[in-house]
Amino acid sequence: MKGKKLKTGEIENALNRFLKDEQHLVLGFKKDESGVSHHIFKGSLDHYSLLNPVFGANAALYLRRLFSKGSQVMLMLRPCEIRACVELNKLTQIEREDIIAVSIDCPGTVSSKEKKEEVPAELHELNDYFKNKDSMRWACSVCGEKRAVVGDAGIRIDEKGNYWAIPYTEKGEVLLSLIDGEPEEVPAELLAAKEQKKDKFQVDMEIFNKDFEKCIMCMNCRDMCPVCYCIDCVFNGDEYLPKGDALLNKVFRIGSVKMPRGKDLFHFIRMYHVSQTCVGCGACEEACPQGIPLTKYFKGVSERLQDIFSYMSGRSFDEPIPYVTFLEDELKDATD
Ligand code: SF4
Ligand code: SF4
Ligand code: SF4
Repeated sequence: MKGKKLKTGEIENALNRFLKDEQHLVLGFKKDESGVSHHIFKGSLDHYSLLNPVFGANAALYLRRLFSKGSQVMLMLRPCEIRACVELNKLTQIEREDIIAVSIDCPGTVSSKEKKEEVPAELHELNDYFKNKDSMRWACSVCGEKRAVVGDAGIRIDEKGNYWAIPYTEKGEVLLSLIDGEPEEVPAELLAAKEQKKDKFQVDMEIFNKDFEKCIMCMNCRDMCPVCYCIDCVFNGDEYLPKGDALLNKVFRIGSVKMPRGKDLFHFIRMYHVSQTCVGCGACEEACPQGIPLTKYFKGVSERLQDIFSYMSGRSFDEPIPYVTFLEDELKDATD
């Protein structure tokens, strides 16, 4: 596989060339005095940062319902963000024409709720910092795909610390064409198969009940999940979570209830809805004001289900989501 080794400043040069077209935008990270945050650049880059070691939200959230044609956004994001964009494209929530999705090797992230000022900015310091797995968000410590091998192209970092731009699709070639120099063979270590990491996830209902006891049903987890995209969520109306008169009518019909009611149903329906598209990013947990360890449930359930179908959310634009396909012969080897 061929790619281009990036000289210092070359990725910024390439993105600035891309931004010369007034219909082009770049969604990536900007570093300023308040830290690093998601930013949409128009015209030219300004304090661009390739990495952001602090996780607040999954940027795919900002792209849902991107339908209008004519503009093009170069996404320079973490693998879990690109994977969520790939899933949203398959769910017809992002127009394929509108994006060039570039993933970037991810060293892991800390939660935006923690002491972000302690997190080093340079990659080599960051790798040292994350040698202690406790300093990483739990979602990152069990992340199944930190490598920039998803999307249209990837920015990979080899063992010597060299940065590479590697195209995976025709759209990825657009990024490569903006970079000076000739393509060359990429180092073998960047092509090595992924280490298979299987972790134990929580399935015990007693522990589930204990963990979710604190849930106040604010639904932030739903609102910040990049792949929980329904406009007409069943939990917005009175059907599942009645309020006011509808609530009192229900109580008169079924008797006294503990409030807030419907917690289990909310989380189970959400778990079922995102089970094939969840990318394990932990944005739900990040958004929870009650500190509920949501990722271990959502990632756990979704990875087990995706494994049954030999599917991995966001791995490829071309791989159909299992629940939108029907195969007569599938699930013969399912053990779960
Ligand atoms: S979940 Fe994976 S890709 Fe996403 S921020 Fe964490 S380590 Fe990076
Ligand atoms: S359920 Fe949580 S971990 Fe899964 S995609 Fe949504 S926010 Fe990310
Ligand atoms: S964000 Fe936390 S408290 Fe709010 S509904 Fe989700 S799990 Fe419950």
